[in-house]
Amino acid sequence: MADVKEECGIVAVASLDNKHETVIPILYRLLLNVQSRGQLSAGMTSFNKDRDFILRTYRNLGSVNEVFRTSRPPKCRAILKKHAGPRAIGHVRYATCGADDRTYAQPFERRHGKKWKWFSYAFNGNIANYKVLKDDLLKKKDYHLTRDTDTEVLMHMIARKLNTEEKPDYVKIFRELADDLDGAYSSVMMNAFGDIILARDPHGFKPLCYGYLDGIFVAASESNALLNLGIHDIRDVKPGHIVIVNGNKVSEKCFAKSEKTSHCMFEYVYFANVCSTLDKKSVYMARTRMGQILAQTESLKVNDDFIVVPVPDSSKPAGDAMAFELGLPSMEGIVRNRFVGRTFIEGSDRFEKIRNKFTVLRKVVNGKKIILVDDSIVRGNTSKSIVRYLKEVGGAKEVHMRIACPPIVAPCFYGIDMSTISELFAPSAINDPLDDAHIKEKCKQLAAELGADSLRYLTISNLIKAIGMPRENLCLGCLTRVYPTPYGNQLYKVAKTNRDNGSCGRTY
Ligand code: SF4
Repeated sequence: MADVKEECGIVAVASLDNKHETVIPILYRLLLNVQSRGQLSAGMTSFNKDRDFILRTYRNLGSVNEVFRTSRPPKCRAILKKHAGPRAIGHVRYATCGADDRTYAQPFERRHGKKWKWFSYAFNGNIANYKVLKDDLLKKKDYHLTRDTDTEVLMHMIARKLNTEEKPDYVKIFRELADDLDGAYSSVMMNAFGDIILARDPHGFKPLCYGYLDGIFVAASESNALLNLGIHDIRDVKPGHIVIVNGNKVSEKCFAKSEKTSHCMFEYVYFANVCSTLDKKSVYMARTRMGQILAQTESLKVNDDFIVVPVPDSSKPAGDAMAFELGLPSMEGIVRNRFVGRTFIEGSDRFEKIRNKFTVLRKVVNGKKIILVDDSIVRGNTSKSIVRYLKEVGGAKEVHMRIACPPIVAPCFYGIDMSTISELFAPSAINDPLDDAHIKEKCKQLAAELGADSLRYLTISNLIKAIGMPRENLCLGCLTRVYPTPYGNQLYKVAKTNRDNGSCGRTY
């Protein structure tokens, strides 16, 4: 269970035949389904041409249900009524940069008297050259930024390009933006005509898909959100493309040639919902193959003393598959307490936090040799506590950690919450992340740090095999220290300098 967070999820809904007075109940369902991508805040902008405020934005801190006040039905109904409209976009956020206050919740709306200049914008990703773009903007006459976030900079950059007397050409706008931006951006915007524009960066770091439901256009970061509405014909927005919903027409257009995609491997390992299919690859099947390969490369001589325990929940497909291949039972030695949720009164003791979040079943693990399957190790704190929990409280005889991902040896600059080298578990031991023999050797030291009896990672080549995509189509930056964009590589140098100087602040 990786102890990191995704930055955001985005959604959009548009009634194409104008038969639907409001799409907000659908938007709410979509937001619930992408909520795993961000639980710090949620928000929406709705379009209704019969209101004075053609676009109206509502956003707040909290989970989707907290923001929509579903525990107070009259309040919830009032929110749905006030924001009713045939088109809407929405967002869930986890902060990788910027503070935890309401003003950072998205969408960001920018009002204007001209309908194409009045728009709302929501964003999933991270712009690696954000600081450069911010400085460029502030050098221009009379610019001021209210928030420290790439979303606001992007808004201003788009707004400048909308500053024409003619209705805008969005292909041209995003083509020009692509020349300036380095990083990951799956985004959605809606103007006061009710036009919706989805865009996915040329690398396709973050997923984005769309489909149709009885005359309604529906889009979301992940396909599980569409599937749960009953949509089966789901299309990925191609990298470097925009999808424009204009009136009752939907068109997909290329704004920047995608020389080489860089889909984030971590979506398959941990972030994406297990029911999602990203760029035609099933997340569940990828995780299952990761477990099968772990079993095929296992060197332990297993017998009836062994059981496999997957760390809930994202490790379950890999754990079950590994157990099946080894002919061992996959058992719930650790059970997640589903009712804990987010809590601010649990204190800072990591072991106590883990005991609050999970229950170890002594009946299952006592006296057993455990093959503990986890999706990844990022900072290592969670893994250490789980190993200790299994041994001290559960009475496990041995704990052998098997990780369905190679060692995370470098930060992410594209929207995953791990921005420094010093916060990561593996880099201090692993010098050459491309040398499998070196990693195997270092695993003895790393296992000891975790308190485990042994540790083994999936290799990079086996991860690629499990995902089922050519290596050159994946981002492997945090595994290889080689990033797919120039600013990614530049920020890695900054991260290294910060580590060497003992600075523990964020790299970006
Ligand atoms: S650096 Fe790692 S986490 Fe970040 S986009 Fe690339 S693969 Fe994903």
